[in-house]
Amino acid sequence: MRLRVDPTKCRGYAICLELAPEQFSADDWGLVQAYGTPVSTSDVAAGQRAIDACPYQAIQWVDGNSRSPRLRLPLVEVNTAQVVS
Ligand code: SF4
Repeated sequence: MRLRVDPTKCRGYAICLELAPEQFSADDWGLVQAYGTPVSTSDVAAGQRAIDACPYQAIQWVDGNSRSPRLRLPLVEVNTAQVVS
């Protein structure tokens, strides 16, 4: 399991950094990112506290190697016979 921060939701209050500093970092502009590395069993509780405390629900668990689940979009089939020119 890994942690992921949705940059479209995060407002940079850094609560997650205080609760799980080994899982998150902030850049010079205060934008927070999760390191994205597998969270050890001993750090899961801290990661969950960060998720629970985030006021914008910007943090989530992701499985496996997925760092950007938003990129896994469903395939859309276009029926060109119905396209009106
Ligand atoms: S607690 Fe949530 S809103 Fe605040 S910096 Fe962390 S991810 Fe962003």
